[in-house]
Amino acid sequence: MLKETITNLLEVSGSLTIARYITRKKPRILMYHRVIENTQLPGISPGLFEAQLRYIKKRFDIVSLNELLNNIDEKQKPYQLAITFDDGHRDFYTNAWPTLRKLDIPATIFVTTGFIDKKNWLWPDLLRSIVLAAKPDTYSHDGIGSFEITQSNPLIIWNHVADHCLTLSHEKREQFIISLAKKLGVPISSEPQDPYSPISWAELREMHAQGLDIGSHSVTHPILSDLDNEELLYELSYSRQRIREEIGIDPRGICYPNGMAKDTSPNVENHAQQFYQYGLVAYPATVSANHIMHLGRFAASSNMHRFKLLINGFSTHINQTGEYQ
Ligand SMILES: [Zn+2]
Repeated sequence: MLKETITNLLEVSGSLTIARYITRKKPRILMYHRVIENTQLPGISPGLFEAQLRYIKKRFDIVSLNELLNNIDEKQKPYQLAITFDDGHRDFYTNAWPTLRKLDIPATIFVTTGFIDKKNWLWPDLLRSIVLAAKPDTYSHDGIGSFEITQSNPLIIWNHVADHCLTLSHEKREQFIISLAKKLGVPISSEPQDPYSPISWAELREMHAQGLDIGSHSVTHPILSDLDNEELLYELSYSRQRIREEIGIDPRGICYPNGMAKDTSPNVENHAQQFYQYGLVAYPATVSANHIMHLGRFAASSNMHRFKLLINGFSTHINQTGEYQ
């Protein structure tokens, strides 16, 4: 409520316009994940998504990410903004792309190719589906101690367990999630099920023919900075290969899974540069040619007031998680 009042005051006083003007030479790269009407999943509703697009369309020059990067620094035009999506859930095809097309707005999607191939779940999805399917009860499990699942708190528990998972290596995380599912009495399906299903390659081809740009988001969505060089090269090169095989293009860019500062490293970025022309993180780092393998993005908030502050350049209170404080 307070934030809403502050945003309204800033809007009425013209401060948002002034902030936008002062920061007009700073290109914005906006990051979305899911566009879906489901209170148990993280994402933005289709209605809010369209409202956000209409808001930025009036105030910014929305260009493709490739065009924004072609003009980076010296040739930088004012008010440039590009839109990106991560992961590759099917709601991009059903909910986001039709709206983007209707408003004639370009976008780039970064896909996790093993997920599109239905070879792996995205682990936060798998964890969420397990926690949501568990019977309300008190449980205890290695690493997270005892916890209670009630009708009203499964997402709080999900957060708690996901935080623990982030501290584990890829292999240990997989083992942990499988053992947790057993403990909670929830069977795991080998393929991601609705509402966690991926877009298909055929749908990606169809959208690519209509102008969608496609980049890599690794094969299995690991924390790249945790991998040894052999595993890292596999994630970087095989995801590129799968996109080339299925779409017929060499993807220009990669966005690093999880995308916080600690999730990449100079070693990751040096290796990524062998395969890609740019790399994206998931917090508002600098967007400049000097940091081409570490370009920052703004997370599109599901709160319209936060969204307006962020997009107009009130970024001083944003931490590395991309959340407005
Ligand atoms: Zn991701």
